[in-house]
Amino acid sequence: MRDKTAPVKKKDSTAEEGPKKVQRRKHRVEDPRARHRRHEAMEAMKMLDHLRRDFTEPLKSMEYFYDLFERVYCNGEVLHSGKPTVGTLCIQIPYEIIYAIDAVPVRLCNGFHTDEQSGGEFMPAKSCSLVKATLGMLKQKDIPAVGKLDFMVHPTTCDQKTKAITLIEEMDYDVYHMEFPRVKESEESREYWRRTVRKFTKDLSRGLGRKITRGRLKEAITKVGRAQLAYHRLNELRKSDPVPILGKDIFLITNAFFFDDIERWTEMTLKVCEEVEKRAKEGFNAAGRRSPRILYTGSPPIFPNLKLPYMIEQADAVIVADESCSANRLFNDMVSVDEWFMYDMVDAVADRYLKGCTCPIFTKNDDRKRRLKELCEQYAVDGVIYQSFAGCQVYEMEQRSIQQAMEKLGIPMLYVETDYSPGQGGQLSTRIEAFVESLKVRKRRKNHQRGEVS
Ligand code: SF4
Ligand code: SF4
Repeated sequence: MRDKTAPVKKKDSTAEEGPKKVQRRKHRVEDPRARHRRHEAMEAMKMLDHLRRDFTEPLKSMEYFYDLFERVYCNGEVLHSGKPTVGTLCIQIPYEIIYAIDAVPVRLCNGFHTDEQSGGEFMPAKSCSLVKATLGMLKQKDIPAVGKLDFMVHPTTCDQKTKAITLIEEMDYDVYHMEFPRVKESEESREYWRRTVRKFTKDLSRGLGRKITRGRLKEAITKVGRAQLAYHRLNELRKSDPVPILGKDIFLITNAFFFDDIERWTEMTLKVCEEVEKRAKEGFNAAGRRSPRILYTGSPPIFPNLKLPYMIEQADAVIVADESCSANRLFNDMVSVDEWFMYDMVDAVADRYLKGCTCPIFTKNDDRKRRLKELCEQYAVDGVIYQSFAGCQVYEMEQRSIQQAMEKLGIPMLYVETDYSPGQGGQLSTRIEAFVESLKVRKRRKNHQRGEVS
């Protein structure tokens, strides 16, 4: 008897119908560029999925930002058509000047492991992932969000970026060099940088054939100022306890500032503010009951390399503040204008970029230490996580003095050296989890000493 539970074997119809012509499928060979793009899209989608789905009760207003990253990095959508585009290789390039000539700035600093691998052929093995990935992206000649560039500006900030200029030029890009001083405090540096920005204003205007006027510059300063205010309104909400927004959302929003239309970005950030303010009023906690409050600092998390913020918040901590050029530092210091005359405005723009910069490229960096201390106090931070990309000497060198400054404040700091490779995950998350656990124990002990029940 046939076992009735066994599947019925289908008849081999081809055997009855005789031999059939075997249909050969045309096998298309994927060209290296298409393969590269597909790998990037997969990388972007993976991170977006993690950020979107691995946390409970996501903010509805964040959907705009998730869609934006998907449109640009997974679907290859080109934004800003019809306007000239200016690629910037660091945050020290004044956006106000670019907007004033009705062009669009696009930050080229890149966070893809796919690009890091292809850019690796140009640089020594132990060099900054961000610089390697940027070279890898430029090699493709297909810039996300804009397709192609009309102008590219490179400031002489850190050594690796400075040396990368030659490599970029060898790829047939015209690169405009902006000389950036490495001493921040002196009057000479200030004057030198002002002169550099004045020259840049003229050269950009001439290079793109667009006139810059007093009215347009004033308008551009106001436009950037509005974006800064929107960010600060959101950032202020992270002081609340319980905290109503996670750090991974903040990083996604600030990363979108690299390439989105500035007015749309401001409008959408204000929408997030409204939702988060509502949550704050209701006492909503975006983190866990005992989640330690973290200050993130160091080499910048750039999409899709948001693995460190993701790991920190998956380990039941919450990033309440940051000091990095892919988030907080982008919005430091507003332009302060005494007289709305052309040259006064250009100088005021230049000052904002030099004064507000807390990148460790400077000879000494008391401003960065001061800012970190302020952030620890204002955002009631329990611990600091400091990331340095392997091979980034300035961040590696500066971590010791930051560690000492944090010790004086009685705030524990974890130093991690990373790159963009996904392989590091296990070991890194174990260290982060152990650090977060130690902060929880410390917090509980402190609360007991204060007579609070946790
Ligand atoms: S880390 Fe410093 S040099 Fe590098 S992109 Fe950021 S601000 Fe520029
Ligand atoms: S992480 Fe370091 S090496 Fe890389 S761009 Fe920033 S300062 Fe330069």
